[in-house]
Amino acid sequence: MNEQNNGRSSRLPGFYKLGLEERIEKLSDFIELTREEQYHLRHEALSPALADQMVENVVGVFGLPFGVAVNFQIQERDYLIPMAIEESSVVAAASHVAKLVREHGRITVSSTDPIMIGQIQIVGAPDPQAARARILQARERILEIANEQDPVLKEVGGGARDIEVRVLQTVRGPMVIAHLLVDVRNAMGANAVNTMAEALSLFLEGLTGGKVLLRIVSNLADRRLARARLEVSPSAFDEHGWNGEEVVEGILNAYAFALADPYRAATHNKGVMNGIDALMIATGNDWRAIEAGAHAYAARSGRYEPLTKWSRAEDGPSASAQGRPEHGRMGGKLIGEIEVPMAVGLIGGATKVHPVAKVALKILGVTSAQELGEVAAAVGLVQNLAAMRSLVTEGIQKGHMSLHARNVAVSAGAAGEAVGQVASQMVREGRIGFDRAKQILRHALRAAEREVQKLETRLGEEPPKDAPKPKPAPETGSEPKPPAESS
Ligand code: NAD
Repeated sequence: MNEQNNGRSSRLPGFYKLGLEERIEKLSDFIELTREEQYHLRHEALSPALADQMVENVVGVFGLPFGVAVNFQIQERDYLIPMAIEESSVVAAASHVAKLVREHGRITVSSTDPIMIGQIQIVGAPDPQAARARILQARERILEIANEQDPVLKEVGGGARDIEVRVLQTVRGPMVIAHLLVDVRNAMGANAVNTMAEALSLFLEGLTGGKVLLRIVSNLADRRLARARLEVSPSAFDEHGWNGEEVVEGILNAYAFALADPYRAATHNKGVMNGIDALMIATGNDWRAIEAGAHAYAARSGRYEPLTKWSRAEDGPSASAQGRPEHGRMGGKLIGEIEVPMAVGLIGGATKVHPVAKVALKILGVTSAQELGEVAAAVGLVQNLAAMRSLVTEGIQKGHMSLHARNVAVSAGAAGEAVGQVASQMVREGRIGFDRAKQILRHALRAAEREVQKLETRLGEEPPKDAPKPKPAPETGSEPKPPAESS
């Protein structure tokens, strides 16, 4: 269990059934939330005044649902995963599959050092190959200049580590491209690296006789990789009348499809990023940087491929029957792996500014950016498994649309209690859609109007203008509030 999380288990049965207030209380059991932190969860995630300090031309604050995925156990440690996301079913799917994996398997993680790449573009060098050689010879001085820019980073054990140089043939002729490799420790590192790259301009121009143009971090952070691996017994998927072996075979076929087809790989990876982005946004990280890095890495072979790999362990009792579930239970565990660039930070950017991002990092309880990256990789892998499991069983829409039904009800004009009532009715009927929600609301409104007419007839006179009207009821027979836009 996770020491950082008071040794508490992230296995919180029934968390989803609690009310919002009760969830905040439960969370406070897991990690002590101050009154201020609770205030930010309940009332004001980010004040307009603080937002005004963060970006330009602020006119307000944009909210997103902030949830917590439960049940995650990564390398024997329990984590609650904070997620900021507008898409329903992502948090529930992650929590459910994390539970299956903790009960029937395990997740392990690892990562490289947090090395970011700063790119320096040199154009017009009279002899590009000689320029390359001169830069490499000046390695020590280059690292010295770079490290002078960030004594704090040096103090915490980071700093510029190496320089690499290529001569790139481009449509505008050869260019000398230097890569400054910087250990950015607990920072995402873009600002740190950009500052160093800019500071090297004059020195590199003098050295090469060329002109330094772009000096900026690369988002293909392939020296800063996080890895996660999970194994899970097929029996984990023996749910709802499904055969776990067949589910695993389905998952392997789904993976083979993604491996063979970029159209599918894009959606496969979108599922991975559902989990990673939600965690990145919640913790105030630059999710565009993570997205850019992930997709560029997915295309590193020259073809766009899945970020995850899925296979079966060879240790099943009848592994020789692989791929043919009709030959009996194969038993080999399902193995999932992910390797993904992870330019994440615990300091810098919005991580230490946004009040809810600070709460999110406290909930997560990680102590280094490397650990955050490893957890993010594990979350992406679990999210991918959750999506494939749904796709090869009931189909993604059943679970997704049931949870999405509330959004549909709101879009159709439901408000207050009517949201839950319209959503439940649509789920019960198995007809979740904007049109159906509108019909239910119209029906409720007509029923309410009939009630008013009956009342007026009984009273035998027009009621005073300000008399309260009865609430309309949907077909459920209960009494929701009148919809905001029901006609
Ligand atoms: P930053 O400059 O705010 O913080 C990093 C600095 O914190 C380091 O340079 C160091 O001086 C200091 N520091 C203190 N303790 C540290 C520790 N333990 N480990 C590491 N550094 C420590 O932020 P950053 O991480 O350099 O840059 C992140 C920001 O840059 C994000 O907001 C991102 O959106 C933005 N950005 C991104 C891109 C891109 O991805 N292409 C480009 C430009 C800017």
